[in-house]
Amino acid sequence: MTPPPRSQRFRRRIEGRGRPIELSELPLGQRTDLRLPIYQDALSRPLEVPFIVLRGRHPGPTLGLSAAIHGNELNGIKIIHHVLEELDPSELHGSLVCAPVSNVLAYEAGQRRFPIDEVDLNHVFPGKKEGTPSEQYARAFATTFLPPLDYLVDIHTASEGRVNSFYVRADLHQEEAKEMALRINPEIVLHSRSGDGTLRNAARARGIPAVTLEAGNPSVFQGRMVLEGELGVLNILAWLRITRQEPPQPVDRDPIICGSSKWLRTTCGGLLETHFQLRDTISKSQLLAEVSDPFGYRVATYSAPSPGVVIGMSKSPVAVPGMRYCHLGAVGEPASPRGRAAASKAEETRTP
Ligand SMILES: [Zn+2]
Repeated sequence: MTPPPRSQRFRRRIEGRGRPIELSELPLGQRTDLRLPIYQDALSRPLEVPFIVLRGRHPGPTLGLSAAIHGNELNGIKIIHHVLEELDPSELHGSLVCAPVSNVLAYEAGQRRFPIDEVDLNHVFPGKKEGTPSEQYARAFATTFLPPLDYLVDIHTASEGRVNSFYVRADLHQEEAKEMALRINPEIVLHSRSGDGTLRNAARARGIPAVTLEAGNPSVFQGRMVLEGELGVLNILAWLRITRQEPPQPVDRDPIICGSSKWLRTTCGGLLETHFQLRDTISKSQLLAEVSDPFGYRVATYSAPSPGVVIGMSKSPVAVPGMRYCHLGAVGEPASPRGRAAASKAEETRTP
């Protein structure tokens, strides 16, 4: 057989990158495993990203699950695998599109950032066609993964050196995102409008309700986090009526709602000792942490600036000024969008 002219081969390779997953091209009632070209190496070889699609036999919405946007955040991969084990595609009323290893190069390197340019991929979505290496990867990933979705759960963990409670970030002013967050039944639901550059924001810009699930710690598989993540996703699938069987019994608790949060930071270098645990309820002025110098003398103490609940914390005792040591959530529903707009306006007016 005569090979196609070089110009055509070239065009095909370029067109293949970032082509949306087309559910209608995949078999009904089956699971399809795909490796799709998202990037290229310096030998012009495609860098393929794994996607798993379960196309239900019956019509219904499509839920997206993504993990390892930060390459060392592994619990989400296992959550996706466990969810898939529970599902029979021939019984689904709708579909699932899963990206278990979203940031392939960072995953291979065992690190958070996209290794070519050391950029946080979750800061550059939706990416740019002719942008930096990470922007081009992000664009091809987003244009492949997002178009078929009606809902998205993007699964993360804490970053290196920190630990997290099992919590969800969602825009609580958005009804469907709030419902998804509550269905996951996490320890804490934190109101957060999706930050610029996140996959969640890129989904939101396409009208896809999306939440970020923060499931534990980086670089490990944690059984409890994986189990709770699996239960949470199965609950969302039942709520969306993609699955019709009774959802599994959730962990018995009511999520704590936080309307906002802030990271507390050290101002001195030295050895940090914290006096709180994840999920602790903190009162205003409570002693949270102290820093000692290498001679053992205390050089700083830190008290809570406001009451709250501990969402995440540093686990490293070695501190420099500016290190984040406590992610403190303010318990309560978020301010209304109108109130928030007024508050940010007031802030704007104060800015010189
Ligand atoms: Zn992450």
